[in-house]
Amino acid sequence: MRGRTLLVTGGSRGIGAAIATIAASRGWRVAVNYASNEAAATALVRSIGKAGGEAIGIKGDVGVEADVLRLFEAVDAAFGSLDALVNNAGVVDRKARVDEMSAARIERMMRANVIGSFLCAREAVRRMSTRHGGRGGAIVNVSSVAAVHGSPGEYVDYAASKGAIDSFTVGLAREVADEGIRVNAVRPGIVATEIHASGGQPDRIERLRGLVPMKREGEAHEVAHAILWLLSDEASYTTGAILNVSGGR
Ligand code: NAP
Repeated sequence: MRGRTLLVTGGSRGIGAAIATIAASRGWRVAVNYASNEAAATALVRSIGKAGGEAIGIKGDVGVEADVLRLFEAVDAAFGSLDALVNNAGVVDRKARVDEMSAARIERMMRANVIGSFLCAREAVRRMSTRHGGRGGAIVNVSSVAAVHGSPGEYVDYAASKGAIDSFTVGLAREVADEGIRVNAVRPGIVATEIHASGGQPDRIERLRGLVPMKREGEAHEVAHAILWLLSDEASYTTGAILNVSGGR
């Protein structure tokens, strides 16, 4: 993958940071997008550089169109081309039933998780599609097993946003299949990152670990490795696929 450029949204922490780190170690030039945690993004970019990799950090909210335009322009300016996108940025919210959810909460969820992925994919297709003079590429969307289970009593809005990502993956994959772009998704299960605490449930992994057939949570690098495979030429005939990385759940 030497010399190819990858943009990872939400790359400063958790699964995104694992994707960025492993990708850089395999020769990808990596653009690390983040929403606000500049310290985490800067530390990651530094550690990739120290290990001999190439990375830049770019701030921007994927749910805001002007930010997304700026994000892709920054990638163009730094690297000159784009070969792959991982739509990884995502948010959860506090545990709530649907009959307790405000419109503002649902809008925030859909904006970050769904609209953000659409906007970033749009900009990536405009650059990578042979229809637009590009040289092809790959997109991986980060869904969740919540798309299948529905997360009742916890966050049905989050689950539904990931269900939208699954449909988006299949539709976009077929739309650009003969334009040199492969589009796939992974559905992580319970993975050890800060996202659970950000949803007000720091003990979520402890509580739910027993429901996983493998009886343990996943690590960010285990999800990242599946994504790196989908981005690679080894997956050259794989498009429209949605891969569970969930310990059997
Ligand atoms: P995390 O540790 O909470 O990290 C979230 C990342 O997304 C951070 O880099 C954050 O930036 C960024 N981000 C959040 N909102 C953003 C926005 N609007 N624009 C740009 N960046 C934004 O999350 P994670 O657990 O690694 O999750 C990554 C993906 O995996 C998400 O799509 C999530 O839904 C999915 N997933 C996670 C699990 C799990 O158990 N962890 C399971 C299934 C699916 P800052 O650092 O600036 O805040």
